[in-house]
Amino acid sequence: MSDNIHTNVLIIGSGPAGYTAGVYASRAMLEPILVQGIQPGGQLTITTEVENWPGDTEVQGPDLMIRMESHAREVGTNVIADIILSVDLSKRPFTAIGDSGTTYTADAIILATGAQARWLGLDSEEKFKGFGVSACATCDGFFYRGKDVVVIGGGNTAVEEALFLTKFASKVTVIHRRDELRAEKILQHRLFNNDKIEMLWDHQLEEVYGSDEPLGVEGVRAKNVKTGEITEIPCSGCFIAIGHAPSSELVKDALETHMGGYVVTAPDSTATSIPGVFAAGDLTDHIYRQAVTSAGMGCMAALEAEKFLSELETENAPAKAAE
Ligand code: FAD
Ligand code: NAP
Repeated sequence: MSDNIHTNVLIIGSGPAGYTAGVYASRAMLEPILVQGIQPGGQLTITTEVENWPGDTEVQGPDLMIRMESHAREVGTNVIADIILSVDLSKRPFTAIGDSGTTYTADAIILATGAQARWLGLDSEEKFKGFGVSACATCDGFFYRGKDVVVIGGGNTAVEEALFLTKFASKVTVIHRRDELRAEKILQHRLFNNDKIEMLWDHQLEEVYGSDEPLGVEGVRAKNVKTGEITEIPCSGCFIAIGHAPSSELVKDALETHMGGYVVTAPDSTATSIPGVFAAGDLTDHIYRQAVTSAGMGCMAALEAEKFLSELETENAPAKAAE
């Protein structure tokens, strides 16, 4: 059944940015609708301990997101399980079409679609995706009990994935293309002090190899970026943790983007190149990409949407009075 729903503010995305926007927009009496997308709760639902969310020395990512969702719902956000397939930002009210068949119209839109894992783009990576190649240790780590695995990358995600995998795997080799990590020092300290973890510096993944029937990983080949020498590492799992790319497919042709797809916003603002369309969180942030900064931007977006809508109302008031 197809439906049409109108709202003052449509929030697209249910990560820290989306839910925070929901809390602020609800408290501004804007009665927002929030569409959750394919990953309700966003990226933090695929991690375990979050240790830098102020107020919690340690909190499980999925628990934190359940609390954020409850908070948004309790103050009045209409949270809907749907995926937005397309948006029309060329005229107001803006239109968004949901996978459910619902058409959402809105006077203002807050885009909070976050980011998704990046892949290396190797044919062999694609071949074994879901059969030994993964981008989520929290989701798939359990399958590697007593086995050897490799992790590709040198940022916070790679180090956290490697540490998490030591709970199951007998050995974790981290393959990084440089000779130093970009991960936070505290995580590096834990990594270097873990006996199950070995580093392979200055290497780039060349190929994942394995069996065809059944489809499964048996090892990887990595190339030394300085000498060209190939090292073969037998393993059952290969975790790709090379960062995330903004989920801007919905709006990449309508809004200004930069740095590989991040939505451009005005300085110190969440305003995009279209008045009434705001963007918050990892979708627009190529620098910090943290839960707390995303939540902060969600707050800004809701406050800016409120201001935009009240100015719109003031502009329309004389016309209405004359009718
Ligand atoms: P996201 O969390 O990416 O959420 C995006 C939302 O948009 C999702 O709900 C998705 O379903 C929705 N969406 C996308 N497309 C559509 C669509 N078409 N229609 C409707 N909805 C859509 N940060 C920290 O501060 N501390 C940490 O410890 C930490 N650990 C991390 C561990 C891992 C493994 C990862 C991957 C990230 C971690 N981060 C951490 C980073 C943090 O998760 C992100 O900065 C934060 O989640 C970004 O929030 P967001 O709201 O912008 O988007
Ligand atoms: P990231 O910080 O961008 O790091 C990506 C890593 O992958 C880098 O080490 C990079 O190498 C490497 N890499 C990128 N492209 C590659 C390629 N083609 N081949 C080989 N290696 C490649 O990404 P992230 O670790 O996913 O983190 C994303 C954001 O989320 C960050 O802002 C991070 O702070 C945040 N986050 C925070 C936490 C936390 O606070 N505990 C946890 C997870 C994520 P180079 O170093 O050589 O560039």
